[in-house]
Amino acid sequence: MTTDSYEMELILRNLNPIDFHSQSVLVTGGAGFLGSWLCESLLNLGAAVLCMDNFASGREENIQHLKKRHGFSFLFQDVSEKFTIENNVDFVFHLASRASPLEFTDHPLEILKSNTVGTMNALEIAKQNNAVFLFTSTSEVYGDGNIFPTPETYHGNVNPVGIRGCYDEAKRAGEALCMAYHRQYGTDARIVRIFNTYGPRMRSDGIYGRVIPRFITQAMNGDNLTIFGDGSQTRSFCYVTDQVRGLIRFISGDDLGGTVINIGNPVEVSIQHLAQTIIRLLSSRSGIEFLPLPPDDPKRRLPDITRAREKLGWSPEISLEEGLKRLIAEKRGKNSENE
Ligand code: UDP
Repeated sequence: MTTDSYEMELILRNLNPIDFHSQSVLVTGGAGFLGSWLCESLLNLGAAVLCMDNFASGREENIQHLKKRHGFSFLFQDVSEKFTIENNVDFVFHLASRASPLEFTDHPLEILKSNTVGTMNALEIAKQNNAVFLFTSTSEVYGDGNIFPTPETYHGNVNPVGIRGCYDEAKRAGEALCMAYHRQYGTDARIVRIFNTYGPRMRSDGIYGRVIPRFITQAMNGDNLTIFGDGSQTRSFCYVTDQVRGLIRFISGDDLGGTVINIGNPVEVSIQHLAQTIIRLLSSRSGIEFLPLPPDDPKRRLPDITRAREKLGWSPEISLEEGLKRLIAEKRGKNSENE
């Protein structure tokens, strides 16, 4: 069994009895890291899937294997531009947005547009089709918070004019738009706040990679691991299979219109600990290099997942070590394929 098909088994085995046969689903940002896993899972659950992407940060190779699948179709489209779709849809997942902190400097307007104008465009599709809508918001709406574990009722501590403002405020505006459509038009809009998620297909390339794929690539190459700041800042890392399972449970649950739910792994680790764990798991001889901490980098991130447990019957199953081992195995496999 390939790594990927084991990942798919992890997602699907706990989704019983959710079934998407004769249901049609639009996934904006469907060629991204999370979007492509979602499209594949929905196809396996029987849905007809319309994957929409403009490859701003999504990648064609993420959906190459889906193109020949029955029920899959692709629309090349920027979500921030007005669009129509040919067939009716029953569900809309709105994921389209760049999400890496290192893109906030280069693409702030694009990020603002996809989460505000883009969210409105996607909400219009949901409204016209009477579809259930799920907006993928983020733990970033809490900013540099001061309540841990952080519940959905916390309103956040965001710097609107800081470097992360384009993402944080755009997601906050996207949430407000969902609630406006819900209150004014009765649209069944739901909001998930995604905490740091990692796994196969996450970009590790260049400066846009996130911390886990970057550290793994650095450790595999024998390069120093680049810790920003002193590494005492924390994150709680969720494996992709747990995250995707949570998203599907959320959109298919009953009576959840207007609900906000955190989905993330409630085990908090420091970036220093993460670096050491990756070096140990790879038996790497890499050292550590300390670089300046980017401005407004949140000091802690830890979700309160009580609501996800209660409303979705969801909790994560894959520990950080297990997830890291799986990702390392996948990257090793890819490297040997390229040799
Ligand atoms: N980070 C780091 N070295 C890197 C990349 C990231 O120390 O090479 C830190 C970053 O400053 C942050 C954490 O790792 O504190 C997580 O960063 P990531 O970009 O994955 O996502 P974030 O949680 O900041 O949105």
